[in-house]
Amino acid sequence: MEVADGIYEFSGVSNFYIVLDKEIFVIDTGMPGNADKIIKYLEKELHHEPKDIKTIVITHHHFDHTGSLDKLKKITGAKVAINGEDAEYLTDEKSQAGSAFMVPLIKLLNFIYRIKPVKPDIILGEGDHVGDYQVIHTPGHTPGSICLYNPITKVIFTGDNLQYADGKIKGPGSRLIPEPEQYKKSIEKLGELDIEVILTGHGKPVTSDANKKLAEYIKNL
Ligand SMILES: [Zn+2]
Repeated sequence: MEVADGIYEFSGVSNFYIVLDKEIFVIDTGMPGNADKIIKYLEKELHHEPKDIKTIVITHHHFDHTGSLDKLKKITGAKVAINGEDAEYLTDEKSQAGSAFMVPLIKLLNFIYRIKPVKPDIILGEGDHVGDYQVIHTPGHTPGSICLYNPITKVIFTGDNLQYADGKIKGPGSRLIPEPEQYKKSIEKLGELDIEVILTGHGKPVTSDANKKLAEYIKNL
C-alpha cells in the first residue's frame, strides 16, 4: 500500500492515493464504493480522522477517478480541487468531453454507476500548489488533465496520462486521446522534469529509472 514515503496507493479499476504531506490529501477516488475503504484505511492504519483529509484532488473528470468523490467529500468535508477545463464536466454543466468514441461511453458509464455531480471548491492551474506538489496542466486525455509533481521528493502523480505495465510506460491508448497534439506536448513537458517515482492512474508505480523509461516513451510518441 505505501508506494513511496507517506503515499498510500489503492488500486482497483484505477489507482487512487492518500498523501500525508503538510496536510493530508487524497488524489482521485476510484469507482463508486471506495469512500469507506479510504476512510477505514485512514483510521485503522494511519490513525487519522476523516476530517483530517483537507483536499481531494481530481486528476481529471472521468468516472473511474471521481466515482466515490461525492461520498468522500460528504464524509470528510474536504475541498475538491480540479483544473478549470474539467470542472464543468464534474458539475455536469458540460455534458462530456472527448472523441466520438469516448463521449457516449462516458455518458453511459456515468449513468450506470450513478456518478453524482460535484461542485469543486478549488480551481487548480499550472504552477499552483497542493502542499509541496506543483500542478502541471497536461491536456490531451481530457482538457483539464493535471499532474502533481513534488520537486523535493521527485514523485509525480500522472493520472491517466501515463500507465505502467511489463516494465514499460504507455499512454491511455489512442482512442482515449482525443487531442493527440496537446497530449504529446503535455508528455514532453513531463520529460523535462527530474522524476524518481511515477504514480499512474492505471497500472503499477514506476520506482526505478523513471526518467529513462519516460524518455523512451516520449521518443516513440
Ligand atoms: Zn481517464
